[in-house]
Amino acid sequence: MTELVVVGAGHGAGQLVVSLKQRGFDGHLTLIGDEPWLPYQRPPLSKKFLAGQLQAERLFVKPESFYRDPSLTLSLDTRVTAIVRDRRRVMTASRQALPYDTLVLATGSRPRRIELPGATLPGVFYLRTIEDVEQIRAALAAAERLVIVGAGYIGLEVAAVAVGLGVEVTVVEALDRVMSRVVSAEVSAVYERVHRQHGVDLRLGTGVSAFLGDDSLAGVQLVRGEPLDADAVIVGVGAIPNTEIAAEAGLEVADGIVVDDRCRTSDPHIYAIGDCTFHPNAVLGRSIRLESVHNALEQAKTAAINIAGGDAHYDDVPWFWSDQYDLKLQIAGISTDHDDIVVRGDMEEPSFACLYLAEQRLIAVEAVNRPRDFMQAKPLIAAHAIIARGALEDSAVELKEMEWRPGR
Ligand code: FAD
Repeated sequence: MTELVVVGAGHGAGQLVVSLKQRGFDGHLTLIGDEPWLPYQRPPLSKKFLAGQLQAERLFVKPESFYRDPSLTLSLDTRVTAIVRDRRRVMTASRQALPYDTLVLATGSRPRRIELPGATLPGVFYLRTIEDVEQIRAALAAAERLVIVGAGYIGLEVAAVAVGLGVEVTVVEALDRVMSRVVSAEVSAVYERVHRQHGVDLRLGTGVSAFLGDDSLAGVQLVRGEPLDADAVIVGVGAIPNTEIAAEAGLEVADGIVVDDRCRTSDPHIYAIGDCTFHPNAVLGRSIRLESVHNALEQAKTAAINIAGGDAHYDDVPWFWSDQYDLKLQIAGISTDHDDIVVRGDMEEPSFACLYLAEQRLIAVEAVNRPRDFMQAKPLIAAHAIIARGALEDSAVELKEMEWRPGR
């Protein structure tokens, strides 16, 4: 019987198990995760779960009963410390050796830590896990002033929840606009306006030089400007992929574990999926690393098909969403290389879609409260569609009704 071992029991791994069952995988599967939880979804952690509007059980990909299966062994609270490739086994922190025929690495990513004076003071938090949220919730219940370091999507989602809880929020961002890694300057400007309207104090273009306090946090020192009082700080300055065990085992690693479009690593017995991978994207024509649920789920489905003897390729248009206040941001494609933008809808309301073009080809959409444009743009981005600019500008006509020709 084939022995399949999966390292990491997060969102991608949860989908992998579901997809393997659907494909009739008839081997034995061992799922090893270092958290105490069944595979769960992280997006609500900075949204409804943080706001106290969702129970932890609602985060789970599947209930406990789903994993009660003689062909499945679930090892939670268990860390894999090494992969011994020549003997095809993984070692756990408790020195257990588990053999595999096929191994899947689904180790995700972890928050980037900032090393500054005071960074380890109680009251300085990061947000990745259910436990992180439980601690942050308790801190917010007692806090009057929260400082968020980093205006990425996690920092801004937390800001939106915290002002809703009546906490005074300051967001400090070293770059000169919010969410600069994921949206264009036009969309950043909309989010800056909305956060300020809700009372968030946005400090852009300045970093943090120290966290202040003796035994616990009292404030934040900025590189430029007066110190800020703070009862709690949440740091959201990006994530780094968990690649150490892969690198130590000699697998090819770049900005993530290098895989092909079938999710195979440089070792034919080892696959990798999700946040930890550096994978080719056919639409973009280059390899990327993505922290997105859609990416983790689609790679999980691809790997499952290939493990179960099929032949699947992952070449989807990357997409992502973020919820802040009553704004639903949906992004497909990557806008970085654009040379033209068409805005459909109203940026004031706001309900609009920014369509990004490169040499007339549609390469990305960033839609705010405009789901139809988002949905209809996705296949057009995959086709590198060329559509007359005048037609795109006409918000009264749906994108799916427009004439287009393939751009490649
Ligand atoms: P994970 O779900 O992180 O799972 C990896 C698991 O592997 C973790 O449990 C980790 O502890 C474990 N692990 C690592 N190393 C080992 C080891 N050596 N041994 C055992 N276990 C190990 N994406 C969106 O598309 N939209 C959103 O709105 C959105 N919001 C988010 C909000 C927050 C607060 C966070 C943190 C992420 C959000 N994301 C969002 C990103 C999304 O959650 C991730 O892309 C997704 O979880 C990736 O799934 P994964 O399986 O690759 O990794």
